[in-house]
Amino acid sequence: MSKKYHIWTIGCQMNVADSNHVAAHLDQLGYEPTARPEDADVIVLNTCVVRQSAENKVIGKLGSLKPLKQRDPNKVIALMGCFVGVKPSPKLQAAFPWVDVFMPPSEAAPLVNYLTADTINATDRAEDVRRVAERWELQDRMTTQSIRHLSLHGETPVAAHVPIVYGCSFACTYCIIPFRRGKERSRPLDDVVAEVRDLVAQGVREVTLLGQIVDRYGYDWGGHPDLADLLHAVHDIDGLWRIRFLTSHPNFLDDRILDAVAELPKVMPHIEVPIQAGDDEVLERMRRGYTVADYYRLVEHIRQRVPDAAIHTDIIVGFPGETEEQFMGTYRVLAELRLDKAHLARYSPRPNTVSARFMEDDVPDEEKRRRHRLLEELQEQIQREKNQALVGERVEILVEGRRKGKWEGRTPQNKIVFVEHEDDLRGRLIEVEIVWAGPYSLQGRFVRDVSPQ
Ligand code: SAM
Repeated sequence: MSKKYHIWTIGCQMNVADSNHVAAHLDQLGYEPTARPEDADVIVLNTCVVRQSAENKVIGKLGSLKPLKQRDPNKVIALMGCFVGVKPSPKLQAAFPWVDVFMPPSEAAPLVNYLTADTINATDRAEDVRRVAERWELQDRMTTQSIRHLSLHGETPVAAHVPIVYGCSFACTYCIIPFRRGKERSRPLDDVVAEVRDLVAQGVREVTLLGQIVDRYGYDWGGHPDLADLLHAVHDIDGLWRIRFLTSHPNFLDDRILDAVAELPKVMPHIEVPIQAGDDEVLERMRRGYTVADYYRLVEHIRQRVPDAAIHTDIIVGFPGETEEQFMGTYRVLAELRLDKAHLARYSPRPNTVSARFMEDDVPDEEKRRRHRLLEELQEQIQREKNQALVGERVEILVEGRRKGKWEGRTPQNKIVFVEHEDDLRGRLIEVEIVWAGPYSLQGRFVRDVSPQ
């Protein structure tokens, strides 16, 4: 009977991509996925610590694995991601002695090394030598960190995430990511193109290129190739239908990138560019490097160059010292700019960050919740109105699968659309007429299949 693995993932899309990568390695080693940690021989927790609430979930999950390990000491427990950081600390290892392997973000190698080393001890027989040698070779290649394009595990997804920039060297005062993911490292262009080609050969139709600050792709080697060059190179891949990229920083979203979005038909008009706060003094203390007026100019500029672009933002409420008036600045920004989506977060002090060390977390939790709620209500209304304007329109969606008994896909602007249809539409690009719209999703009527041949 083959061995089984279970992967639990929280946090950003980068984590989702990393978990898929680990799963692909485990598949290659002959493991099969299971939804039940109790049944798994290997359990991987891929973690997030961007806010205390995420870290609490990780700690809870880790606690729940302790009795499993006590019952079956042969189970391998691997802890991955930002809870571990680039260099696992002895303190962490001492706090969770039931964890066998510590894996920095985006690195599958420690687990593969651990499992293959085990295999070598357990299979010290002549007939296994060839197989073992192959595994060592795989492991060797993996330590180069650049080989990511393994077979996808399970059913090939229609849309996949591809990391293009690891780490982050930008020092926003609230953010723990640079401490946990290390400095910014762009992946070589050929390497990304090879991975996307490989994904397409397996049936993937849409890729989202990922980076903490994705528009800084190439900055760590002096600027060229940059994100625009990469978009052009990926665009040339036959059989790929759609390209997205996230998350952009306002200061690096230059005209070369916007021109690529405007000119390359496969690059979707969907830009995620966080403002974080709608007040200059707060932005300065966050060390974001732009003003509210700069952001307004950027949004206007995006809308001029890519008129149909959906613009998404991130916002933190309750940053240290944020007054009611400053918060209302953020409220005004959302009300005036009428963006397509806002990811809202309540400020959470994170260890070692400048804001946690030098600024008092003085906005009470209740007040953070109130500000969060006000923005949520406002943005929900904006999204409802914007989506309702689409009723009666025809849009193209790429169908990714079934949810709630219907086919589910996304428009070029990344809006979720549900469609009822008898045929298997998975992986098809279809035209639909929007018949209903809510703030978070739409419903469409199938018109025709427009998939490229
Ligand atoms: N790196 C990108 C940027 O900041 O522009 C986005 C990725 S970041 C990991 C995801 C989001 O988490 C941020 O945009 C921010 O809104 C939120 N975030 C980061 N640190 C936070 C903190 N200490 N408290 C609350 N939210 C936080």
